[in-house]
Amino acid sequence: MITRSAALAALAAETFDVVVIGGGITGAGVALDAATRGYSVALVERGDYASGTSSRSSKLVHGGLRYLQNFDLGLVREALLERQINVKLAPHLVKPLPLVVAAFDGQRPDRLTGVGLNLYDVMSVDKLRSRRPGRGGVREEQHGALAVADTDADGLADWAPDRHRIISGEEVCERLPALAGRNPTSGYLFYDCQTDDVRLVLTVLQEAERFGAVCCNGLEVTDLLDADGRSSGVRVTDVMSGDTFGVQARNVVNATGVWADRLRPEELHDEAEVPVIKPSRGTHIVLRHDQVPLVSGAIVPAGGGRTIFALPWLGGTLIGTTDNEVEASADPHALDHVAPQPEDIAYLLDATNAYFGTALAASDLAGAFAGVRPLISTGDPKKSVDISRKAELYETSSGMITITGGKLTTWRRMAKLAVDRLVEREARDAPCRTHEIPLGQAVAVEDLARVEGVPDAAYAQLAGRYGHLAHEVLRIAQERGELAQPVVDSDRAHTRPPDLLAEVAYAARHEQARTVGDALLRRTRLGLTAARDVAAPDGLAARRVAGAMAPELGWDRARVEVEAEAFLREAALEGVVAG
Ligand SMILES: Cc1cc2nc3c(=O)[nH]c(=O)nc-3n(C[C@H](O)[C@H](O)[C@H](O)COP(=O)(O)OP(=O)(O)OC[C@H]3O[C@@H](n4cnc5c(N)ncnc54)[C@H](O)[C@@H]3O)c2cc1C
Repeated sequence: MITRSAALAALAAETFDVVVIGGGITGAGVALDAATRGYSVALVERGDYASGTSSRSSKLVHGGLRYLQNFDLGLVREALLERQINVKLAPHLVKPLPLVVAAFDGQRPDRLTGVGLNLYDVMSVDKLRSRRPGRGGVREEQHGALAVADTDADGLADWAPDRHRIISGEEVCERLPALAGRNPTSGYLFYDCQTDDVRLVLTVLQEAERFGAVCCNGLEVTDLLDADGRSSGVRVTDVMSGDTFGVQARNVVNATGVWADRLRPEELHDEAEVPVIKPSRGTHIVLRHDQVPLVSGAIVPAGGGRTIFALPWLGGTLIGTTDNEVEASADPHALDHVAPQPEDIAYLLDATNAYFGTALAASDLAGAFAGVRPLISTGDPKKSVDISRKAELYETSSGMITITGGKLTTWRRMAKLAVDRLVEREARDAPCRTHEIPLGQAVAVEDLARVEGVPDAAYAQLAGRYGHLAHEVLRIAQERGELAQPVVDSDRAHTRPPDLLAEVAYAARHEQARTVGDALLRRTRLGLTAARDVAAPDGLAARRVAGAMAPELGWDRARVEVEAEAFLREAALEGVVAG
C-alpha cells in the first residue's frame, strides 16, 4: 500500500468521485468495486483497517447452514455463490474447510441435519459442469477435501465442493482427533470455506489501490461537508496528529458497520424506513492445537439448543461463537473495545469440555476475542440469533449512501449494491467487475526462497497470508538477522507460532501499521493465537515488536517503550488474555 503520509497528502489535495467511510470488509469492497468501475475513490478508516467487526469473525466464508433453520433460503444461496467466487478470486486466502457433525453411541447421524445438508449441496451448485470433473476439470486434494476446480472463461478456476457424505467413526477420529476418547460411531462430512478476515480486508484494499483508490487509516470522519444541502465530502481528524481537514468528494458512502447510525444520526433517524442497528456480541476462544486437536472443523452442541464451531485455524483451535444482544449505551465509545465477557467464555468452555471430554479452564486459553455484529432490526422483537444477516442499503436526504448488515462472506454483493446505486443515480454505464478481479496472487510454498533462521513452518503460513507478496516479506527477513526470527521466541512461551518479526516490519513499511496492536492483533494474529505470550506483563514480545517497527516509523528507544506499554493496555481492554 502507499504510505500513510502519501495518502494524507492526496486526500487533502484531490477531489474524488467517491469517499468511503470505514475500512472494514464492506468499505474495502465498496472502494474496490467503485475503483474498478472507473470512479476515483478515497477510503478513510478511523482506527486500523479491519479493527471493527471485520477482524473478529469466525473466519468462515460460508452459506451459513444455521440460517436454513430460519428458511433464509435467499440469503444462504447468495452466500454460497459468494463463497464460490471468493475461492476463485483468492484461492490462497479463502480455502475449503471440511466440517464434521459427529454421531455417538451407535446412533446414525441425525436425519434432519442430512436434509439440511442436501439442500446446502443443491444450493451451492452454480453450474452443473462444476460437478463434472471429467470435462476439463481437475480434482485436487485441499485440506483433505476433494474439491472440483474448473477453468472458467475468465481463466480463473471455479470451485465447488463435493457433496456431503456419511463417514465412519474412524474417519471422524482422523479428522477430529480430539474426539477419539468419545468413540464416535459415524458422522456427516460437508464443506465450507475459511479465511483470515483481516487479510481478506487488506487484500481487497490493496486491489482497490491498484485501481487508483487512496486509502488511509487513523482518520476519523466527524461530519459531512455540505454544498447546497448535498454531501460534498467528509471532515476528518487525523488521530495521530490531531489535524482536521476536508476530503472533497461528489459521493459519500457510509460503510461503518455497527457504527453506521452514528454519522449524521439526525439525518438517519428522520428518515422513516431507515432500519435500526441492533449490535450483537459474539465471543471466540482460541486453544492450542494439542489441547483440542482438530484437522477438520466440528459442529459442537452448546447450551440453549445452539451449536458452535470448533475450527482448526493458524495452527490452533478456534471456538465460537456466542450471540448476545448488546445493551444500548449512551457512551459513544462503548463499542470501541469489545472484550469477551466471563460468562461467554464459560459458555464456550462448557460446550468444549462436554463435547471433547476435556477439563479446560479460562486460564488454559491461548487467547480470546469478541466482536459486535451489525444486525439490522426491523422492529420485530426477535432475539439476535434469529435476526437476518441481510444487508441494508439506504440513501438519506444529503445523498449519503449507507450500507450495513450482511456478512464477511457477502462483502462483494454489498459493495455491488452500494455502487450500483451510485451508477444508477448518475445514469452511468459501468457494470460491476469484482467477480472477475483476482484478489492478490497465489504463490507455491516451494517457490519461496529459503532464508536462514526462518522456521520451516513459516513458509506455508506466509504463502497463505500474503500470496506472491510473501517474497517481499522474506526479502525483509534477510535485511537484519533478527527479522528472520519468530515474534514469540522464548523458552518459556506457551505457544510456538511461526509468525516472523519481518512481518511486523513489512506491516509498518507496506501496510500502514502504526502501532504494536496493528501488528499483533491484525497484520499477524498473534494477539489472538498467542495472547498469553505477546501480551505477557513483562512486555518482552511487545518490545521486540516495537523494536522491529522502530526503524520503519522513526521511533527512538523511549518511543519503543511507550508503544510496547500502549499495546499491553490495548490487550487488556480487548480482553485477549482470559482467566
Ligand atoms: C462474532 C462474529 C462472528 C462472525 N463470523 C462470521 C463468519 O464466520 N462469516 C461471515 O461471513 N461473517 C461473519 N460475521 C459477520 C462479519 O464479521 C461482519 O458482517 C463484517 O465484518 C462487517 O464488516 P463491516 O465492514 O460492515 O464493518 P466493520 O468491520 O466494523 O467496519 C466498519 C469500520 O468503520 C470504521 N468507522 C466507524 N466510524 C468511523 C468514522 N466516524 N470514521 C472513519 N471510520 C469509522 C470502524 O473503525 C470500522 O473499522 C461475524 C461477526 C461477528 C461479530
